Amino acid sequence: MENCIFCKIINGELPSATVYEDENTLAFRDINPAAPIHVLVIPKQHIISLDDINTENKKTAANCLAAIPEIAKNLGLVGGYRVITNIGKDGGQVVPHLHFHLLGGKKFKEKIV
Ligand code: AMP
Ligand code: ZN
Repeated sequence: MENCIFCKIINGELPSATVYEDENTLAFRDINPAAPIHVLVIPKQHIISLDDINTENKKTAANCLAAIPEIAKNLGLVGGYRVITNIGKDGGQVVPHLHFHLLGGKKFKEKIV
């Protein structure tokens, strides 16, 4: 997608601090971290959000999600971590390319659920 900043990161048009990459998934540090460790895990295929999962792309999304435990382990998050995905306007999504926020490096006290 032409104007998608995460697609530009995937294509190398924008820089990122990459922490993990395979043929399906890219993970890089969030530019504005909300925790000591804050990584965005994204599919290389442009999918807008979980709302846009369909029979063709659901394997891509599932592979992306399945990479998270290995990424967390590589980052040393042995005590646990949190994964968040925002969907659409009411969900607070700003970048319209599916991403999982992987947050850790501290014990979270605040909880939404
Ligand atoms: P969301 O609000 O769920 O759409 O999250 C978008 C996230 O992308 C925010 O946490 C931003 O800090 C992050 N972000 C935006 N641009 C970049 C970038 N160029 N590199 C890394 N993270 C970014
Ligand atoms: Zn994109």
